[in-house]
Amino acid sequence: VLNQPHLYAGVIVDIRISQVDRMFFYLVPESLRHEVKIGQQVVVPFGKRNVNGYIVELQEEDPDLEGIKSIHKICDTNPLFTLQDILVAKWMKERYLCPLVTAMQCFQPPGTVRKSLHLEKKVKMLQLILDPQQAIALGEQLKARAPRQYEGINRLLDAPGYSLLMSGLVKEIGYGSVKALIEKNWVLATQTTQRRIPQEGLKTSEADISSLTSAQIEALSQAEKVLDSSEVKSILLHGVTGSGKTEVYLRVIEAALKRGLDAIVLVPEISLTPQTVGRFQKRFGPQIAVLHSRLSQGERFDEWMRLKNGQARIAIGARSAVFAPLADLGLIIIDEEHEDSYKQDETPRYQAKEVAWQRLVQNNKGRLLMLGSATPSLESYYQARRGNLIYISMPERVEKRPMPANVIVDMRQELLEGNRSIFSRQLLAKLTEVVNNQEQAILFLNRRGFAQFLLCRSCGYIPRCPSCGVSYTYHQRPEYFLCHYCDRHQSMYAHCPECNSRFLRPFGMGTQKVEEEVARYFPNVKVLRMDKDTTTAKNSHQKILQAFSNKEADILIGTQMVAKGHDFPGVTLVGVLCADTALHFPDYRASEKTFQLLTQVSGRAGRGNIPGFVVIQTYSPSHYAIQAAGRYDYSSFAQRELNYRQRTKYPPFVEIARILITGEEEKVVINTANQLAISCQKGLKSDWQIIGPAPCPLSKLKNRFRWHILIKGDKHDINRVLSLGMETDFDMSVSVLYDVGATSLL
Ligand code: ADP
Ligand code: ZN
Ligand code: ZN
Repeated sequence: VLNQPHLYAGVIVDIRISQVDRMFFYLVPESLRHEVKIGQQVVVPFGKRNVNGYIVELQEEDPDLEGIKSIHKICDTNPLFTLQDILVAKWMKERYLCPLVTAMQCFQPPGTVRKSLHLEKKVKMLQLILDPQQAIALGEQLKARAPRQYEGINRLLDAPGYSLLMSGLVKEIGYGSVKALIEKNWVLATQTTQRRIPQEGLKTSEADISSLTSAQIEALSQAEKVLDSSEVKSILLHGVTGSGKTEVYLRVIEAALKRGLDAIVLVPEISLTPQTVGRFQKRFGPQIAVLHSRLSQGERFDEWMRLKNGQARIAIGARSAVFAPLADLGLIIIDEEHEDSYKQDETPRYQAKEVAWQRLVQNNKGRLLMLGSATPSLESYYQARRGNLIYISMPERVEKRPMPANVIVDMRQELLEGNRSIFSRQLLAKLTEVVNNQEQAILFLNRRGFAQFLLCRSCGYIPRCPSCGVSYTYHQRPEYFLCHYCDRHQSMYAHCPECNSRFLRPFGMGTQKVEEEVARYFPNVKVLRMDKDTTTAKNSHQKILQAFSNKEADILIGTQMVAKGHDFPGVTLVGVLCADTALHFPDYRASEKTFQLLTQVSGRAGRGNIPGFVVIQTYSPSHYAIQAAGRYDYSSFAQRELNYRQRTKYPPFVEIARILITGEEEKVVINTANQLAISCQKGLKSDWQIIGPAPCPLSKLKNRFRWHILIKGDKHDINRVLSLGMETDFDMSVSVLYDVGATSLL
């Protein structure tokens, strides 16, 4: 008998604590030798119990461990993970300092790893098997005698495909009546696997596009070149708002499908981009699967399975769709690539742009990562200028539509000249014009609620949240305070708690105040408001956007939710009520964010046949971000901002990592922060920098004190420095988070 060597499996156990975040070896029993595969879920003995784990390696070499145990059983012969998934997860562990098992989890639809993969829903359906004309006639005869059966027939006649969920109809007309219809052989009961269909995208009325612009043709041909090569490359598609980027994405996907490659499309937040999703659905129909967090677990699972089975070949979704299970992945498109939402703000703290690149690298097929934006992030722009990305510019709108004209209004001057309204005279004049011409306008303000805060005019007291230290936002109707960081509610004070004065007055303004002022000036005008407060219900984004698109309202007021991506051809005016809100934020990217937001929101105007107009109101009219946005001058803004970042050592010239230390006792938090800073210091090279420790801009949140340390250095060494921090022992009452490539520094 040939003495065959044993087989050993490297297994990651599904226990999410850092102490066990490594591979454990198990012996593969001879009975399982021909069944084990990399990526399978298995049960293994671990300490005194059995736990779930995943095979990440198989080898014949003896790991030479004393008392090695055997795999207990294989949960499902179909692997949960591909080899590529595991390689990307390993890369994520290195890069983002997260446990491997949390990185692997990203490749699974939420909530399914522990369960087996058979969540498919079997349901009973009822199908009308009469000819509809006949059904109407027979139904009429039942009307008096059996009104519930009559009702049932009508419901089926109204249903798509004359078919309904049995349970639904039983609820409405009762089991007896359903049974009677079945016995009459009018209705057939069937059992099917139901596909839970997620909400449709917004209906689009776009005409078919007959010919591409020359810039679109150029973009497409560059993309095809990459798709035809075997290398992995990135393209930065820098196209002004309305230049037809989405149309390029659609064509590039067609090109990929033709070559047998599957595609992923990432959009910043899917509920805010129903039009984009709608356009993809219209073009590709059932080949599209939509993945996002607002879907129910069942819906998400079904969409995920359609990708896994190859029934759908294009995944569209927010950040986490970058993990979509596509076997022949060869194209990833990231729209509005400058958005922060591509960075996950909890463990694993990944940047979807980086993960996308890794997936393509690990995937032997290929090929193209396409980043698109009207205002590329300085990181991408800088990489493009250095030749690391293929740069394609689309500087003009389609059909030679002009960029909207704009004015920058100095609000200090307005006040000096006696105008105390939230509207400058110019904005008011333009709004009046729009209303008279029955056109549409968008009013943008980056702050919800009625007013930013309440101020005691007598003593200067400002009510603040006791657990976060930030001022409460004042909400009207009903009157209350809300902390926008921890969600604490506080009822309105009648008197100032400090000096007992009655002169507590709103200060600053929010979207609700704008709505009220519009109503005061234009009592007959229909207004829609879109912010976090009006969009809590499911599909409410859709409803508001659809209503505005249908011209059921003249003015749309909103926060950044209205700034992005939407295509409303009827909008001829955009008013920015206060451009300064983001400008004075404690963030090194405040200017970049302001420039992006102003450019994006201006881009909503004049997308139809009537040219657009933009009014930007500000207290800092000479700031370069506002000036450059007013001129649509990306490159001079980018140049100036890059010079500044180089001087001050900020990304893209260095990488930033953040260590966030939080705890209930401030002293312990500060001590830990100091200790960590000292440990990291040891790993620093001469041109590296540690900033802090310092209290975060949000120095207290939900009763926890927050301090942070920023580390600036080059990409390749930053993890070495952080791991020095990770080896430090500290008080168990504090929590320490490591965020590589941090975008939020609050
Ligand atoms: P972007 O994504 O760059 O903002 P879109 O792709 O939304 O631009 O295009 C803006 C509008 O122009 C859309 O209504 C789109 O249907 C239309 N469009 C795009 N490409 C063309 C073209 N080649 N010819 C005519 N219209 C086009
Ligand atoms: Zn007071
Ligand atoms: Zn709070």
